[in-house]
Amino acid sequence: MQQQNWRTILQRSLRSPQLVIEKLGLTEAHLPLSMPVNDKFPLRVTGGFMNRIRRGDANDPLLRQILPLAAEAEDAEGYTVDPLSEHSTQPVPGLLHKYHGRALLIVTGACAIHCRYCFRRHFPYADSNPAPQQWRQAISYLRGDSSINEIILSGGDPLTLPDDKLRMLVSELSSIPHLRRLRIHSRIPVVLPERIDNNLAAVLTGTRFHPVMVVHANHPNEINETVRYAIDKLRDNRILILNQSVLLRGINDSVAVLSGLSEKLFDAGIMPYYLHMLDPVKGTAHFSVPESDALLIIKGLREKLPGYLVPRLVREVAGNPYKLPLDPA
Ligand SMILES: *Cc1c(COP(=O)(O)O)cnc(C)c1O
Ligand code: SF4
Repeated sequence: MQQQNWRTILQRSLRSPQLVIEKLGLTEAHLPLSMPVNDKFPLRVTGGFMNRIRRGDANDPLLRQILPLAAEAEDAEGYTVDPLSEHSTQPVPGLLHKYHGRALLIVTGACAIHCRYCFRRHFPYADSNPAPQQWRQAISYLRGDSSINEIILSGGDPLTLPDDKLRMLVSELSSIPHLRRLRIHSRIPVVLPERIDNNLAAVLTGTRFHPVMVVHANHPNEINETVRYAIDKLRDNRILILNQSVLLRGINDSVAVLSGLSEKLFDAGIMPYYLHMLDPVKGTAHFSVPESDALLIIKGLREKLPGYLVPRLVREVAGNPYKLPLDPA
């Protein structure tokens, strides 16, 4: 079977809530849309992700991740546009150096899908294009700080960049002697698995680094055959694959769903890493799960799963030197 080019698939992403609703056999009557919010962080979803949404179910856990609802316009106390004060942890634009030994480079603001709960939804670079002149500054900062031994490519989604730009970046990074590890944070293997081809694998493994990729899936229905195929390709190239999820009300806030996710991740060759508490980002309060419920869910997972399939429940606390584990066990 001839594979469709990933750029074409990306360009054909759906951006209209009406069209999404129509395709799924739903009506606006039972799904109030919030147009003003949608203007600033518009709906965006790949055809492949759409195919995994159940028709006729307004509460489908994948649909809830991508469809703007009126609830996003509601203000909630403590929910702000930059809850992690990330603006203040950038020594140069686009580089976050918050934790010892690790720096995170925002290589692009673009994503293949827009997740409604995303903590980057209010960031000014949300629509920005890759800015290689900014990388220059970041790279000289990295060169000058030998305490940094791991570079994390993030965004947005770094894998929305073309292969040649990524190759250039990875090769520059590999010329910094104190960098020992290359990590990629990407939702692409899950939402646009067609992106993972031999060329990309060659780009990521073409230097001395053994890359680690942290993918992002929240619900077992996100993992299908095309995702497994993409992950196999990465693993065949000796890339270690971990997963991070966000705990989301009405989407994955149960032992049944999250244990199902861990099992499916393992079957696909992915190890669970983090389960994040929602960051208090303006417009996302309706996704929030109370900490007491989160702890009960983790307890339930421990009772059901081997220890290595239980993700670490963490909360990001501005100023803390690591992501704060909530689970006392
Ligand atoms: C999450 C994050 C990291 C990585 O943290 P780990 O605990 O190593 O996964 C690094 N830098 C920033 C700014 C982060 O938000
Ligand atoms: S892919 Fe990641 S960065 Fe992009 S909108 Fe979703 S959660 Fe946010």
